[in-house]
Amino acid sequence: MAHAMVVYPKPNEYKKPRFGFSYNWALLGTILHDAGHRVISHDYSCEDFERPVFLRQLWENRIDLVIIEFDSFGLKRSENERHGKHLVQSIKETYPEISVIAYGYYCCITGSDIPLSDLTVKQNDINAILDGIQQVHKDILLKPYDGFDSLPPINRLLLQSIPYFRKNNTYTLIETARGCGNTCVFCQRKGWQQGYIPHSYDYIMAEFKTIHHQGFKNIWIIDENFTFRLERAKQILAGITEQGITKDMKIALSSWANIDIEFLDMAAKAGVKVISFGIESGNEGILRFYRKNIDLKKAEYLIQYADSIGIFTIGNFIIGAPMETLDTINETAEFIRKCSFDQVNIKTLDYMNGSELYSRLHKDTIKGETHVFACKENGLTTLPLRAIIALKDSFITAYYQERKQRLEKKIALHGTPYD
Ligand code: SF4
Repeated sequence: MAHAMVVYPKPNEYKKPRFGFSYNWALLGTILHDAGHRVISHDYSCEDFERPVFLRQLWENRIDLVIIEFDSFGLKRSENERHGKHLVQSIKETYPEISVIAYGYYCCITGSDIPLSDLTVKQNDINAILDGIQQVHKDILLKPYDGFDSLPPINRLLLQSIPYFRKNNTYTLIETARGCGNTCVFCQRKGWQQGYIPHSYDYIMAEFKTIHHQGFKNIWIIDENFTFRLERAKQILAGITEQGITKDMKIALSSWANIDIEFLDMAAKAGVKVISFGIESGNEGILRFYRKNIDLKKAEYLIQYADSIGIFTIGNFIIGAPMETLDTINETAEFIRKCSFDQVNIKTLDYMNGSELYSRLHKDTIKGETHVFACKENGLTTLPLRAIIALKDSFITAYYQERKQRLEKKIALHGTPYD
């Protein structure tokens, strides 16, 4: 039996903990636990880290294998390579006999080895990680998984050893598919996930039934784009509604705007309370540059409709395309107001390693960085970085002020988006 620790390091930049966790990190813990090994899980994005405590725990629990996830920006989480490298160094300086494996999106997109680790897995494939574990720890035997549906559902109860997850024990995540076939040029995910792999209808129903029995109430479907196959998404919603599994749940999901009214009605009926839309811009020329296929008129109508039936909407936007001007920013602002989003996230265009945009950059612009924000200073857009940030901040403050009363009324009428 191995004594393993699966670790998610602290993000490079401080972020207030927001419910969520890495699915692969939870999955590895589940697989090792199910195979009869002792597993301790740490997520330092929501736990305090103290080096002496960490090292003592390795000693006291006779840990002989540490598996560390090196994450990347993605859409929801953060790069955490600094703390990850610090962990590897601390372990190897103190207990060189402990095997350390590094894996994760950061390793996939940079293709680089994590110094001092026994092995860096550079593929986004659970079997490649399991194979790596067996290479460095000869006592562990793990069978490869034969397809996406043969993966075990994550053991959510294992996470309860971490105080933050114990405290938020009505929240959890579920994955119905991985990947997205859309072509957005800024999307970093293409750097580690090229194809689209869905779970079967039966697998998803079984997962929903399990989390229903376990008493989870606030569910985030973590698929990059739940509606990438709209008919499949509708089939799932119909299934969970018919079986009454999600009657007491509040579900959040991410979607592109290529949906329809029927989907929104089905979503509301199934307990979907939050839909996060990646719209990116209110200007058609910029959408063409992003290779984001959106009919803005139709999107506006659908988002207003979602709002009218009590679904909380989140709009995600990006400023900083090469042709961005104050006029195009105003078009985006106008679009946001018309849609009446409940929450708005505006990011500065980030050329992230793994994305098509990053691959187009000249080495002099990258200067060894894994990402580069577009700004006038580096010639990637027309406005200085500080001006972009100031514009975003002032718009967001004013927008929430304008939206406040309507949002209060919506909550009074339809309840909160989560409990
Ligand atoms: S819709 Fe675009 S940004 Fe979102 S996951 Fe798909 S390709 Fe990436």
